[in-house]
Amino acid sequence: MGRVALVTGGTRGIGEAICLDLKKAGYTVAANYGGNDAAAQAFTEVTGIPAFKFDVSDFDACQQGVDQITKQLGAVDILVNNAGITRDTTMHRMTPQQWNEVIQTNLTSCFNMSRAVIESMRERGFGRIVNIGSLNGRAGQYGQVNYAAAKSGIHGFTKALALEGAGKGITVNAVAPGYVLTDMVRAVPEKVLEKIVSRIPVGRLGDPEDIARAVMFLVADEAGFITGSTLDVNGGQQMY
Ligand code: NDP
Repeated sequence: MGRVALVTGGTRGIGEAICLDLKKAGYTVAANYGGNDAAAQAFTEVTGIPAFKFDVSDFDACQQGVDQITKQLGAVDILVNNAGITRDTTMHRMTPQQWNEVIQTNLTSCFNMSRAVIESMRERGFGRIVNIGSLNGRAGQYGQVNYAAAKSGIHGFTKALALEGAGKGITVNAVAPGYVLTDMVRAVPEKVLEKIVSRIPVGRLGDPEDIARAVMFLVADEAGFITGSTLDVNGGQQMY
């Protein structure tokens, strides 16, 4: 196969499932992470996939990270912008720091990472970029003004970059997960989770593998006619 795939936030949760599916399909995979060295080390030991530590909210760090991966594994053909955080609170309590951290880690990261790979993709006439958005970026969510703004921004980012890439063999799509059982969602109080599940028509939370499946579909060489789209993977919770 020979294609190189880079997944940000690839060492845990949804990103880990994406890395595993990519590896299974024969891609050369690099996982990025932000700070949890123990999780990254365990991930590499179990999967054999190398993990690269850099902060996706830092433009220079992303350039250096992509340079290092390119030297080690080859030019990046597939970028999955998956790294994300929440800093939930209502607007009247939200600090500028909570706003900025979420915007920079979830949205500015998409610029930082795409900028680091796009020139090479254009030169080689092939690229697949998949941005992980969110149901809550599509529908809004109480206590998540920062997160919903960042994720909603991802959906606009995806469409605009898709237009720019279209003539160069680069597709850009988004996946908008509903509630998926990862550390991010385990942090939600159990009573709230029960309420959430009761509103999901398929009757369960998503598994990370449910999201990985959608990403695999979009990154395939054969998916060249799908660009600028958002694929909702939410158990029927919201239909657009
Ligand atoms: P997790 O919290 O389980 O994992 C997050 C991953 O992102 C970790 O690998 C983490 O690295 C990495 N990360 C966080 N900040 C940075 C940073 N500044 N630089 C580099 N890496 C960073 O998250 P999920 O798997 O639940 O979520 C993955 C994506 O899916 C996110 O974008 C999230 O918003 C989105 N999403 C998740 C949903 C869910 O229900 N879980 C629903 C909708 C969307 P480290 O281990 O070092 O901290």
